[in-house]
Amino acid sequence: MNFTLLEHPLLQDRLSRLRDHRTPPVQFVEHLHQISLLLAMEATRSLPTQTVEVETPLEITSCKQLSRSLVLIPILRAGLGMLSGFHALVPEARVGHLGIIRDEETLEAHVYLEKLPNHLDQGIVFVLDPMLATGHSSATAVARLKNAGAKKIYFICCLAAPEGVEYLAKMHPDVKILSASLDRQLDPRGYILPGLGDAGDRQFGTNIHSGPV
Ligand code: URA
Repeated sequence: MNFTLLEHPLLQDRLSRLRDHRTPPVQFVEHLHQISLLLAMEATRSLPTQTVEVETPLEITSCKQLSRSLVLIPILRAGLGMLSGFHALVPEARVGHLGIIRDEETLEAHVYLEKLPNHLDQGIVFVLDPMLATGHSSATAVARLKNAGAKKIYFICCLAAPEGVEYLAKMHPDVKILSASLDRQLDPRGYILPGLGDAGDRQFGTNIHSGPV
């Protein structure tokens, strides 16, 4: 299966803070940014490069530069919190947005916004979503991206449920999945256990009853 678990100690440390229900939105956002930086380092480890000649102030030398353009696709809302970390490392990456909401009863995914860069076939696409739960949103996102021409796609998350990994891998076996954790299971509402709750609510302070931040 195309699944990689990333166990860097810093990632695990930040993740434990994300999970803690006492972490307020302002710190949640900061930890998610740091996690995304670390995930971006790992996810870009084997990107293709090409040799170019560069003239330093002293002489001409051979250097390596990325040979393919990069595209970042945060899945709204929660994926927005992973954008800053990836963008900090690859500011020239183009950014597309996919708005996907799940029906709380059927857990099916519905696309409400699709704004994608053109020439997706020439780039390497990183789909960003902190939570891979049922896999319905992620599989829908990947299908939309392939439909728009994307050929090389990575799915990057913080937490994954086994059910979601299995579903996404079944629907899109060519997609590489990277996660900082493989959690135990989904609950009947499609939440990841032990998880961290609703990643959108935790970032944006919606639907939180734990007092002032
Ligand atoms: N989305 C979330 O934000 N949290 C979950 O546990 C599952 C899906």
